[in-house]
Parts: sequence; structure tokens; C-alpha cells
Amino acid sequence: MNNNTHSSDVIVIGGGLVGSSVAYGLLRQGLSVTVLDGADDTIRPSRGNFGLVWVQGKGHGMADYARWSFGSARQWPALRDELQAQTGIDVELMQPGGLHICLSEEEMSQRVAKLQWLESEVGDPGYRTTVLSRDEAAQHLPGLGPEVAGATYSAMDGHCNPLKLLRALYSANIANGARIHNRMQVSAIRQEGGIFHVSAGAHVWQAPRIVIAAGHATQQLSAMVGMFVPVRPNKGQVFITERVQPFLPHPTNYVRQTDEGTVQIGDSMEELGFDDMVRVPVNARIAARAVKCFPALANARVVRTWAALRVMSPDGFPMYQESESHPGAFAVTCHSGVTLAAQHVFCIAPWVATGLRPAAIEAFPATRFTPETEVKPYGI
Ligand SMILES: Cc1cc2nc3c(=O)[nH]c(=O)nc-3n(C[C@H](O)[C@H](O)[C@H](O)COP(=O)(O)OP(=O)(O)OC[C@H]3O[C@@H](n4cnc5c(N)ncnc54)[C@H](O)[C@@H]3O)c2cc1C
Repeated sequence: MNNNTHSSDVIVIGGGLVGSSVAYGLLRQGLSVTVLDGADDTIRPSRGNFGLVWVQGKGHGMADYARWSFGSARQWPALRDELQAQTGIDVELMQPGGLHICLSEEEMSQRVAKLQWLESEVGDPGYRTTVLSRDEAAQHLPGLGPEVAGATYSAMDGHCNPLKLLRALYSANIANGARIHNRMQVSAIRQEGGIFHVSAGAHVWQAPRIVIAAGHATQQLSAMVGMFVPVRPNKGQVFITERVQPFLPHPTNYVRQTDEGTVQIGDSMEELGFDDMVRVPVNARIAARAVKCFPALANARVVRTWAALRVMSPDGFPMYQESESHPGAFAVTCHSGVTLAAQHVFCIAPWVATGLRPAAIEAFPATRFTPETEVKPYGI
């Protein structure tokens, strides 16, 4: 080994929410972990998302994903408590139940059909959603506008501060002995005698296991170890207002009041490749809808806006894959890295540590896709 070669039990490539969650879980398993994270100018949705820990509506067409998301929401309080005990950082998890607001009868009936399908397929008495008229919804959300047609409510839903989550995971990983290297753009991976050699610049890291959780670079890096893990960007614009008096006791699919009093509003869903420019007409549509939902928002000043790119698979569901040609190489990717953080800590990390694939992720191999697979438009 030369001076630029380093060893550990596992190398995690990518220090976003997904990589950091898996790394934290691996450290809990007693393994030594190196995290290699890219340059500051890489696209990083972990720093630009909406912060929902959301279950309702997810998994239409694949009930396993609904169960997976629900399981994560259930384990989230344990993750919050651990991170707080280890780092002193409160990630501001609140799970008061969430509402999905509909502005027309048509939206409402589509929503209800979707949720009925999910409830009957999931078959868990805890997995429940309630259909609310506009006036019933207004009892939960007193500031609701007159143009709202109705809402669906689920006690399973909540939100957190996603930036504090990333910081807490980072701090906990450092405290538990992880070696984290920033600005380490991995450019090559090879396996020799069961050991992976991961190169970034002049450095080479070695480990018997690697986890590729590099967001938009996951497809390119996974190909180096014989896996086809197709991801594409899906753009979301979000904006945030000045702090206002507390008025929103529940997060909604579109508007949530943060722990700091600001109101986060969004988000759009567009398939525009790697374009991450904020477009004013899109923000205008987002704002118009938000004001219909909560007319008082018309008076709130916007202080910041941004666009970020979701990491999407062709069907919108996660991909968890161990390479068949390069055993010990795992790819982990999803579009809801906040919601699924608890599963990534408590279920995905033990899978990587032991190689024993849990039944809960049977539905999510990347091998369900081929280059010919049709891409489905995304919507929660
Ligand atoms: C607008 C928007 C709203 C969202 N809202 C929610 C929400 O409410 N709830 C929810 O659960 N999810 C939400 N998400 C999704 C969530 O943000 C993502 O699932 C999550 O951030 C993905 O994390 P990641 O670690 O996979 O990706 P990233 O954040 O992209 O992290 C990947 C990391 O890999 C690194 N990297 C890339 N290439 C290399 C390389 N070659 N070598 C080394 N490192 C590399 C990058 O530097 C980066 O730090 C939202 C996303 C968007 C865009």
C-alpha cells in the first residue's frame, strides 16, 4: 500500500442524505466506514428538498413502496432520538399528520381512488387515510381558502428540517469514526481478489464492500461494477417566505411551515434534464396555487427560491441492488431520501453489512429495468 492508499470495511460513495444515512447505519453495525463525497458544484438534492417525511399517496402501483415508506415513518422517531443523543442536533421531526389539498372535484376524485387502492393493497390497520370536505379540512387548517375542494388526511405524515438532518448525520458519522473526504470525485472502481479499489484523483481507497449512493452519478459509477441503475433528473422549484406567525399546524403536500417560522412552498415536477435554473413562470404557478390554498400567504414576502433535481428511477421507486458480477458492490438510490432515511439506517445498512437481502426490499432490485424500460412521469 502506498501513502495514497487507504482501507476500511466499507466505502460509501456519496455523502448526501442517502449515503450519509447508510454510512451511519454501517457504523452502528460496528464497521469502519470511509465516505467519499464529490465536489461542491455537483448537483445535490439533499441540500434543496422539501423536508417531508411523507407516506400518503406514495406507492400507487407498487404497494411494497407504500409499506416501505410507512415503515420508515414509523422508525423515524427512533432515528431522531439517536441523532439528538449523539450530536445534540434536533432535526425538528414533527409528525402531527399531513394533508394533501385538492383544488378541484376532479383532483379530489382521482386522489380518493388512488388512496382507496393503496389502503386495500397495503392491508395494515395502521395505514389509514381520511377524506375530508373543505370545511372538515379547515378544522385542521384554519387558514384554508374558500377555493379548496377538499383534502385527504393521514396521521402517518410529517416533516423535519432536512438541512439539520444532513448535518446531524454528518456529525454522528464523524463522532462514530467515519473518515469523510469531501471534494473526492470518484472516477474509477475496480475489484481485484474480492477487494474494491476506488480511485479519486491521486488517491485510492480499498474495501471489501462499497456502496454507491452518488445521486445523479449513481448510474455512471454502478456501470463500473456491472450494474445498470438508471436515474434521471426531475426538477422541482421551491421557495421560502419570511418568518410569519405560526398558522399551519400540519404540513401539506404543497405548503409547510418550518420549525423556524418560514413557509416553504412548492414544489413543481418537470422533466428538463440537468437544467436547474429557477423559472419565474413556474414560481408564479406555485405561488398562485399556494395562495388559493392559504390566502394569507399573499402578504408574505418571499426571501429565497431555488430549483433542485430529484434522483428518479424509471418507475419512480427506489433501487437497491448488489452487483451480480462484482459481489460486495451495492447501489442505493431513491427520490425520497428524507422519508426513507430511517429505512436506510435500520434496514439497508444491515443488508450491506451482512449481504442478506431483507424481504422488505425484494420489490426494489435495479434489475427490473433494462435500457428499453419505459420511463413513467413522476407524481406522488
Ligand atoms: C425539489 C425537491 C423536493 C424534495 N422533497 C422531498 C421531500 O419532501 N421528502 C423526501 O423524502 N425527499 C424529497 N426530495 C428528495 C431528496 O432530496 C432526495 O431523495 C435526496 O436528497 C437524495 O439524496 P442522495 O444522497 O441520493 O443524492 P445527492 O444529494 O445528490 O447526494 C449525492 C452525493 O454524491 C456525491 N457524488 C456525486 N458524484 C460523485 C462521485 N463521482 N464521487 C463521489 N461523490 C459523488 C455528490 O457530491 C453528492 O453529495 C426532494 C427533492 C427535490 C429535488
